[in-house]
Amino acid sequence: MTITALMPVYPRCGVRPVRGEGVYLYGENGEQYLDFAAGIAVNALGHGHPKLVEAIAKQAATLMHVSNLYGSPQGEHFAQRLVDSTFADTVFFTNSGAEAVECAIKTARRYHFANGNPQRHTLITFNNAFHGRTLGAISATNQPKMRDGFEPLLPGFAYAPFDDLEAALALIDENTAGFLVEPIQGEGGLRPASMEFLQGLRKACDEHGLLLVLDEVQCGYGRTGKFFAHELYGVTPDIMAVAKGIGGGFPLGACLATEEAAKGMVIGTHGSTYGGNPLSMAAGEAVLDVIQEPGFLDHVEAMGKRLRSTLEQMIPNFDHLFEEVRGHGLMQGLKMKSDSRRFVAHCRDHHGLLLVAAGENVIRILPPLTIDESHIAEFATKLSDAARVYVPAADD
Ligand SMILES: *Cc1c(COP(=O)(O)O)cnc(C)c1O
Repeated sequence: MTITALMPVYPRCGVRPVRGEGVYLYGENGEQYLDFAAGIAVNALGHGHPKLVEAIAKQAATLMHVSNLYGSPQGEHFAQRLVDSTFADTVFFTNSGAEAVECAIKTARRYHFANGNPQRHTLITFNNAFHGRTLGAISATNQPKMRDGFEPLLPGFAYAPFDDLEAALALIDENTAGFLVEPIQGEGGLRPASMEFLQGLRKACDEHGLLLVLDEVQCGYGRTGKFFAHELYGVTPDIMAVAKGIGGGFPLGACLATEEAAKGMVIGTHGSTYGGNPLSMAAGEAVLDVIQEPGFLDHVEAMGKRLRSTLEQMIPNFDHLFEEVRGHGLMQGLKMKSDSRRFVAHCRDHHGLLLVAAGENVIRILPPLTIDESHIAEFATKLSDAARVYVPAADD
């Protein structure tokens, strides 16, 4: 037997965290890491945030799980807070981002079905998109590395180049249900959509009776300095998938929709055993309490500006390595001139700095939203120390 007990689908590295505290992770032998990856934009409040820890402990002792066949005071309360804070009129809770995307896809198809247009089932999605790993979610991307060997996939998706409005509009036909898009592509290379692109998609939806479905699993929930990234664009979706930061590390996701877009989602059309159970709702409420504290999002925006200018100042010193910075708030990408995966490994193994690689040789910088200036200064020191001694491989 050579297969590992953990199914070997991840290239797991030597970092083996056993404890976390704020912006730091600690390995089995006490090694300390500055965590500017935050579980890939999940640990929005850092590690061990006292309010989140207390809320989960208290709820676990009170009531952890009941079936969705019962009334949910916890779910109603948290959903109402999300409705009050966003474009949405209704929320379905999930355990993950991919499930939030699945619910979004189903909601979009049911909308047209309810309108008597079941043939309008195709969502236009975008090259290099990442929507998760379920069969529906991998059908919504055209990245071969996620799809190969899993065919036949779900029909009903068309693919356009990201940020190319004309190409997206050219795909609209009698089968189109709407667009499914990340306002800022995460996995695909930390690429923010342009204003014209997102606003153009919204306009096309309004003109053609289509739905704008946003995947804000990574870029949402305060990450950019706005509660949701679409606020940066002055655009509102009809349906939106949310996860990652919403639970601060507790597995939680949500599909948000307007009343109109959710008109097909009636009794019996969807469900989840765990989705929105009392324990997850307590975690979600605790995270939202912190994010909605006055000044919190302003703090994220200010830290984002500082992080951005730190990176911009660093580029000229290492212009053999780094090309440009892109992103918003505390979702920043540093584009490299060589393999970003290898540099991320170098930072991790030799400088105690955790980052995440993304497509297009980009390094993703996704710290907890609770960082202060001192963490950015520490990050800058570690990153420049790492860059100073780094030699890209000859074949990078
Ligand atoms: C992470 C991610 C997902 C999938 O979330 P899971 O919780 O891993 O299922 C979907 N969309 C985007 C944009 C993501 O970054």
